[in-house]
Amino acid sequence: MSSMTLAAEQDAAPEDAEDGVWLACIECGATFAPFDAVRYRCDDCDGLLEARYADPPTFEDFEGEGVWRYSAALPFDEGVSLPEGNTPLHYVPRLEESVGVNTLRVKHEGMNPTGSFKDRGMTVGVRVAEELGVDRLACASTGNTSAALAAYGARAGLETLVLLPAGKVAAGKVAQASLHGARILEVDGNFDACLDIVQDLAERGEAYLLNSLNPFRLEGQKTIGLEILEEFYADEGRYPDRIVLPVGNAGNTAALFKCFRELVRSGQLDADEVPRLTGVQAEGAAPMVEAVENGWDHTERWDEVETRATAIRIGNPVNAPKALPGIRETGGTAVAVSDEEITDAQRSLAAEGVGVEPASAASVAGLRKLRDRGVVGDEEDVVCLTTGHLLKDPDAAAEAGGDPEPVPNDTDAVLERLGN
Ligand SMILES: *Cc1c(COP(=O)(O)O)cnc(C)c1O
Ligand SMILES: [Zn+2]
Repeated sequence: MSSMTLAAEQDAAPEDAEDGVWLACIECGATFAPFDAVRYRCDDCDGLLEARYADPPTFEDFEGEGVWRYSAALPFDEGVSLPEGNTPLHYVPRLEESVGVNTLRVKHEGMNPTGSFKDRGMTVGVRVAEELGVDRLACASTGNTSAALAAYGARAGLETLVLLPAGKVAAGKVAQASLHGARILEVDGNFDACLDIVQDLAERGEAYLLNSLNPFRLEGQKTIGLEILEEFYADEGRYPDRIVLPVGNAGNTAALFKCFRELVRSGQLDADEVPRLTGVQAEGAAPMVEAVENGWDHTERWDEVETRATAIRIGNPVNAPKALPGIRETGGTAVAVSDEEITDAQRSLAAEGVGVEPASAASVAGLRKLRDRGVVGDEEDVVCLTTGHLLKDPDAAAEAGGDPEPVPNDTDAVLERLGN
């Protein structure tokens, strides 16, 4: 049976596992020692790799706070930390009411140290880079990965290189990468082209790749799922029916699915308790939605992509082979939303005090659309993931918000303006 199902059996540790950790190819099942060499894909078939554990954890194995609370589910006990994780699971009562579901909570990943969930992946990825003894870290990025890599690389004292699509990265993100000391190369092409180049560099041994193609990044991002399940259960006495998230390279979708598979294998969760993974893309960059709607097990590359939600402006989601089974196996779905729907959702979240960047608001826009279509029922308990902070993209925030009103330097004039 494929390893990418909820029912897949726990496999025995291969001989070259280290402390019960190894890498396995999701396509052919080949296994590899985790830290003996730099490896992003299967030597035999070029398939994606994932980390495997001899002992998948239960909630009893977790202690402490943040990403490293979950070290029993990670390849190491600690890492280069700023620290990350432990993000709020907001109540949004007005939004819950207007969307029309039983429960709506918002897991705001914009509250991580550099303002996006990418920090969770980076704390683990940079720890692995130290283990491997590499000296230059690199990524292609729509912005947030570069900000996280720059900060965690700086913390670890390692050189960082980021490739960005010229003119398509929000201002806050470039500023972060720049101040944290990354070398920034702006490529005359989209994100997918940047990722092609950085994969070539990594293959030639020029840099250690920390995009979500790197299986250890996804280990850190798995902790989003662990936090949601633990906290939702503590508050509500049950698990959410559905988790709705924005999809770009589909790393988070893959990571959440892996989180659930491991909890089912350890006996912590029953397969029918697993939340339905529901992915949302922008209409102008929706290869995953296309694949789900057509029942494909792969995505077709979109060469032209466009959306205001620059963090998910991606036409070739590298993690699709891990993420599509996650959507299918959990009974989830995927939906595309327009830029206007994204901006509306950004305003609705802001009206609850939750400030997010456009890509993040896609989750709420997608939920609203699926609720309107009757795909999501009114009895459902839903968690929407908001992936990045409002300040990441100040231009989009200013455009979505109201305009400041100029007034003279005079109290009476101010009162007059206020309409008194
Ligand atoms: C990276 C990112 C995404 C996309 O996540 P994937 O794991 O690549 O699907 C969505 N939103 C924000 C804000 C991001 O930074
Ligand atoms: Zn393989």
